[in-house]
Amino acid sequence: MTGLPDQARIAKRLEALWQIRLGPGGGADRPAFSSAEAEAMLLAAGWAREAGLEPGLDVHGNLWALPPKWTGGLVSSGSHLDTVPDGGRYDGALGTVLGLELADELREGTDAGARPALLVCVAEEAPRFRAGTIGSRLLAGTLAPGALTELRDAAGTSAAEAQARFREQLDELATLEPPLARLRAHVEIHVAQRRALRQIGVVTRVAAPRRFEIEVRGQAGHAGEVSMEDRHDALAAAAEIVLAIEVAARSEPPETVATVGSLAVAPGALSVIPSSARLGVDVRAISAPSLDRLEAAIRTAASDVASRRGVESGIRLLRAGDPTAMDAGLAQAALEAARHQGIAATETWSGAGHDAQHLAALAPTLLLFVPLEGGESHTPAEGADETDIAGAALVAREVLTALG
Ligand SMILES: [Zn+2]
Repeated sequence: MTGLPDQARIAKRLEALWQIRLGPGGGADRPAFSSAEAEAMLLAAGWAREAGLEPGLDVHGNLWALPPKWTGGLVSSGSHLDTVPDGGRYDGALGTVLGLELADELREGTDAGARPALLVCVAEEAPRFRAGTIGSRLLAGTLAPGALTELRDAAGTSAAEAQARFREQLDELATLEPPLARLRAHVEIHVAQRRALRQIGVVTRVAAPRRFEIEVRGQAGHAGEVSMEDRHDALAAAAEIVLAIEVAARSEPPETVATVGSLAVAPGALSVIPSSARLGVDVRAISAPSLDRLEAAIRTAASDVASRRGVESGIRLLRAGDPTAMDAGLAQAALEAARHQGIAATETWSGAGHDAQHLAALAPTLLLFVPLEGGESHTPAEGADETDIAGAALVAREVLTALG
């Protein structure tokens, strides 16, 4: 057995990425389509050359690194290099660095003669444009390039403008056609984002968020002069809806979750009865029937509360998503590879979205989780253990080696 993975090299590369760029809170700060993400991609492109691959950028801004002069099958691996504000050292970076290790390791090709490639998807994290996995969804065709003109960051810059600037910054890389027809398999290794996972996680299902905006319209009035009976308080009704959503989610399986993460109240004055309240709701499940039941319960709760309180409610679907099943054959192969290498691994699911779930539409895709150590994911304290990192890499190597 060769030296995979090279822990010193992995640590050195993670540190180099970490230094591009640290935000005010001491965490990684590489927003989607930012110059920091571009800088990180250039670094990865250089490392890909060291692994004997030729880097290039597709029209969307995804980084590919391919075996030169090779027109046969490919097995790709990688993750992403953008981060949430004040993010961690491992999220995205780990899967990218391990993708390079795998490419290095599989230089001679798989058993059936496929060659390794690196794929780093652009703009995976949602905070900047309130839309995540942009690069992989553009590749999969589930996000239209035209939609990028509609997505804007807090400064008013559209994702399309940011993408154009990002590509300019990487103009030293060749432009290439994504080699989708040649992809035999894709593997993404990612740090786990749920503390309960204590061994290598082989992901079989990924939840997709379904997002809604609920608007409750009541009647404004003087806080001192309208009796309690005469009120049509939009915020009080919204509060009941929030709690009803929580109750509905709790009655579903534990993998089903619902979050009301935003609330805008108008007029928002201390002495005025609220006339409207807008709730942002995020619902996730790994089973479609559970997701459908929860959506129905939310719609019922909103209309019941509204009619009981004499206010109006409306629901707008912001994003429709259904759970994705990852490739069962690759997941099975990963569990078997772990078993005979004596690496503890378990079947698991993901509540968070990942590029892998969109790439799964293009090629059989494996998503492996490395247990989370240290602090929470998406924070500067995020950690991962060397043994677990090695375990995931060894499992991925064996699965890819057996493929063609
Ligand atoms: Zn990530």
